[in-house]
Amino acid sequence: MSRKVQRSEVCADCSAPDPGWSSINRGVLICDECCSVHRSLGRHISIVKHLRHSGWPPSLLQMVQTLASNGANSIWEHSLLDPAQVQSGRRKPNPQDKVHPTKSEFIRAKYQMLAFVHKLPCRDDDGVTTKDLSKQLHSSVRTGSLETCLRLLSLGAQANFFHPEKGTTPLHVAAKAGQVLQAELLVVYGADPGAPDINGRTPIDYARQAGHVELAERLVECQYELTDRLAFYLCGRRPGDLDLSELAKAAKKKLQALNNRLFEELAMDVYDEVDRRENDAVWLTTQNHSTLVTERSAVPFLPVNPEYSATRNQGRQKLARFNAREFATLIIDILSDAKRRQHGKGLTSPTAQSKPHIPRRLVEECGV
Ligand SMILES: [Zn+2]
Repeated sequence: MSRKVQRSEVCADCSAPDPGWSSINRGVLICDECCSVHRSLGRHISIVKHLRHSGWPPSLLQMVQTLASNGANSIWEHSLLDPAQVQSGRRKPNPQDKVHPTKSEFIRAKYQMLAFVHKLPCRDDDGVTTKDLSKQLHSSVRTGSLETCLRLLSLGAQANFFHPEKGTTPLHVAAKAGQVLQAELLVVYGADPGAPDINGRTPIDYARQAGHVELAERLVECQYELTDRLAFYLCGRRPGDLDLSELAKAAKKKLQALNNRLFEELAMDVYDEVDRRENDAVWLTTQNHSTLVTERSAVPFLPVNPEYSATRNQGRQKLARFNAREFATLIIDILSDAKRRQHGKGLTSPTAQSKPHIPRRLVEECGV
């Protein structure tokens, strides 16, 4: 099912040949230099993954490659294709341009400010627009046109939109239609494989009933993505003897005292930190030209996500201070407590776009 990585591609941001990385949520392939900027912006802007040195579910890789080869990049550079913009001096960087400031400023404008995305005509009621877009998404996921759906998502369509008349979410529709790649895209944008329809049936149920067995299995996998990835990260890193010091016991107690919402946030933050550490490792193994490994290309801790409270962002950054053993212990505690809380039920998808604003003093509360 996995397609061979197309080596004739160029970086979506600076046109450098042979991009080694991809941005999953943007559907583009990017070079090492541009990737260092993407990483510094954080996963809420760009979820990066190395094309060859990271593990890929085959259909996720296929989704990204399909978007990339079908020109998803034009979604993010829409107005740059307008001759009037070219006259105003806006242009794409070349591979030879400096990362800072030329490439980094362009990448921030492109993905963080969405400066070149096609804007809809302004309406009085933004809520209506979002609802319209989400309804369009709901019907478009039945087709194979990934770019259409990514465009709708880029304009604000909601992946978890519950269609009031149809009684389903877009993921139910994609699952029933057997649109594997659409399902991957929706999950990247936070769609919940366990979301009930009006009769309590999930997208996983829809896929099974329609005979799309592989898709159903993949959706189950997505549902457990968070805990599975934490567990996988532990492989080979599990401390030899379980730390049963008084401090560790106290930490475990505090973890158990967190309400479900705070616990889920903590698990998502730890997931992001696992992703940062793994991408760091890939980054280091793929850099053979030392000039690239400068301080400015490093991502020493999780970048700020403005949707989170200052306290949560501080807690996220403090995770970088944990040494390998401490971090592994925290993950073990989270996994065992997740099991206790949910009786084997998976946590929400880590990419779910919730907007939690509950302040938390992560390290202090957990005492680790
Ligand atoms: Zn580039």
